[in-house]
Amino acid sequence: MNKAHLWHPFTQMKDYNNADPLIIERGEGVFLYDVQGRAYYDGFSSVWLNVHGHNVPELNEAITDQLGRVAHSTLLGMANVPAIELAEQLVRIAPKGLRKVFYSDSGATGVEIALKMAFQYWRNKGVCGKTAFVSMNEAYHGDTIGAVSVGAIPLYHETFRPLLFKPHLIPYPNAYRHEGGAAAAMEETLSALRLLLQTRAEEIAALIVEPIVQGAGGIIVMPPGCLREIAALCREYGVLLIADEVATGFGRTGAMFACDLEAVAPDLMVVGKGLTGGYLPVAVTLATDEVYGAFYADYEERKTFFHGHSFTGNPLGCAVALASLRLMEERNMVEGVRTKASFVERKLAPLLARRHVGDIRQQGLMIGIELVRDKESRAPYDWEERIGVRTTKRARELGMLTRPLGNVIVFIPPLASTEAELDAMTDILAEAIVSVT
Ligand code: PLP
Repeated sequence: MNKAHLWHPFTQMKDYNNADPLIIERGEGVFLYDVQGRAYYDGFSSVWLNVHGHNVPELNEAITDQLGRVAHSTLLGMANVPAIELAEQLVRIAPKGLRKVFYSDSGATGVEIALKMAFQYWRNKGVCGKTAFVSMNEAYHGDTIGAVSVGAIPLYHETFRPLLFKPHLIPYPNAYRHEGGAAAAMEETLSALRLLLQTRAEEIAALIVEPIVQGAGGIIVMPPGCLREIAALCREYGVLLIADEVATGFGRTGAMFACDLEAVAPDLMVVGKGLTGGYLPVAVTLATDEVYGAFYADYEERKTFFHGHSFTGNPLGCAVALASLRLMEERNMVEGVRTKASFVERKLAPLLARRHVGDIRQQGLMIGIELVRDKESRAPYDWEERIGVRTTKRARELGMLTRPLGNVIVFIPPLASTEAELDAMTDILAEAIVSVT
């Protein structure tokens, strides 16, 4: 029935239908169990979103408790209790200045909202020329049309180009792939941005960035100070800064938000994934009072933000997000991530001596291991070799699930993983890499 009726996302169905399908039946802690009862470590947090593990009593209870009250009511012209409480909590923990919360249901919709808000912000202020966006090479912001427009991974976005608006693209600082290393990569990014803003700032509404870690582009960590400089340039030239924290938010990088690592206060910030502990589809676009204020007017002035989704502010999702945030604080999880990250770093370090391990990139519990054909020249494996797919297939045989990004093996374990679990997962990761390369 799976093969007959399901069309899986980001999946070549011909490959899928020729392979042994994995069908998950239940989860417990960091494990997922398939219909045959086989256990797997969830080594990529079910696509980078699991925080506390699976089947967590406190989160289950938050949902069933809310279910006994109301499963859904709209935010169009009315409110619900969990949506209000969650908004207050998010404003409390968000980077300084973000004081308004707009709900949606996936990272991509959260990004759409940020783009539309930034665009309309300038129009509402009577500045009509600022209509363009800046994004970064290899960026990924989701799969709806606006989010794809500001994305720049050719494999995902090229097909749709005729359908999209075109952002200004600047290089993302990739220290491993830049001849001059981190400092030169950062300088290249900043000088490209400076030049663009010097000449075109009056046309640019906003810059969108994955703060500190570019995720789907290959888990690429920015050189220290780079995000701060990008934010300063945006401020200097009157361009809004949109931080896409969909992957990096809620402790993943060792801070509550990646922006906090460099005390950056964006004008708009998008969160999703880990917001509900990875339980239900809720995303949020946070805005400053300055942005919100540009929409606040008499109706006749036509400054209303005409955007919303049927499930905006879903009470079940908001209730579980509140419970997840409460658990994160009670369990001191952000600090825990930093300790666990050091453990993982020490565990993975010996892998760098392997002939085909080119680079290990890590920020908190977000890790990417880049495999290369030739270490000296950093020449990548050919696409047809499917080295990433083969490695993660081997990891699955050894009992851990993850997905590659091309030649980069992703390791993004649930934040609640214990040291013993991380020990076991990193062992599997190493064995899979050693056996395939
Ligand atoms: N933005 C970033 C940085 C992401 O990594 C992702 C998903 O991986 C998205 C946006 C899209 O989120 P969603 O898949 O929930 O639409």
